[in-house]
Amino acid sequence: MSIVDPQFIVIRKGALSKVDDFLEDYERPIFVTDELLYAEYREIVEDFMGGEVTWLLVSEYEVGEISKALGKDIILGFGGGRSLDTAKLLARDTGLDWIAVPTAASHDGIASDVASVSHNGYRYSEKCKSPIGVIADLSIIEKAPTKLRLAGIGDIICKASSLGEWRLAHEKNDEPFDKRVYSLVKSALESVLQDESLETLVRAEIDAGRAMSIFGSSRPCSGTEHAISHAMDREQTELHGLQVAFAMPLCVYYLEEAGYSEYKAEEMHQFIVKYDMPASIDDVGISSDQFLDHVHHALDIMTRRNRYSVLQHQGVDDPGILQTMKLLDYF
Ligand SMILES: [Zn+2]
Repeated sequence: MSIVDPQFIVIRKGALSKVDDFLEDYERPIFVTDELLYAEYREIVEDFMGGEVTWLLVSEYEVGEISKALGKDIILGFGGGRSLDTAKLLARDTGLDWIAVPTAASHDGIASDVASVSHNGYRYSEKCKSPIGVIADLSIIEKAPTKLRLAGIGDIICKASSLGEWRLAHEKNDEPFDKRVYSLVKSALESVLQDESLETLVRAEIDAGRAMSIFGSSRPCSGTEHAISHAMDREQTELHGLQVAFAMPLCVYYLEEAGYSEYKAEEMHQFIVKYDMPASIDDVGISSDQFLDHVHHALDIMTRRNRYSVLQHQGVDDPGILQTMKLLDYF
């Protein structure tokens, strides 16, 4: 087994009640979570653990409080994006291993080795390490708000754009490529397009995260649609998965034009409409000028990261983007 693969992945209802079984080799765990989940789940988790445990809150970590991790031998990230990211960062700081215990299925970072860190309004990625295990309790995850699940679906279906662009960037601009990783992400995408179940979504998210860890960069799962979302982060507060899904059909349109898409932009746009995700300029509450500014900024991000964009490849200009957006019912 490769070192980037978790040693165990459990996805089922009631998985958390057996958390103790996965910790047999450890004596001093520390749980990382946010305030809300701490209030909701502390007693339940401690019941399952058979007594009090040490907790580190995300807010404590953010002000530099990591002394609680001294003498611990395993970290459990319990929660959504922020909690899992903090567990990853703590694992990097302390050298300890960590286990992902997601309480929502909102993004593909559950089993990845990259933490998303916010600094001066920008989000950037920090390399950490992959979890040694994933305990995904579906009875907890299904209680999370629907919007989080939609964001999770968005972060997977946007691979329709990132995968095609990755292949284009490899063939036209010599970016590194890996067929096995491509297939892994493609299967994750296909599974979610075909099956709405929560278990399928969680598995797809874990596989997408594994793919990024195996490949050593986010490129397979993150193309221009992600760069547009990062540009939108400057002023939007919409969930990551909803923003990348919003930008995806536009990128798929140009990939189709370039002959690098197995998916149809119109169908992908209809998919996000069907799921009631933000699908129009009005839904995300911005003007077309603002969106164009985000696209420009996204292209700068792509250039800075040495990533080839399909928009660059197709030589797209502002009137062209607006025309395509009209065609795809963005407004
Ligand atoms: Zn993403």
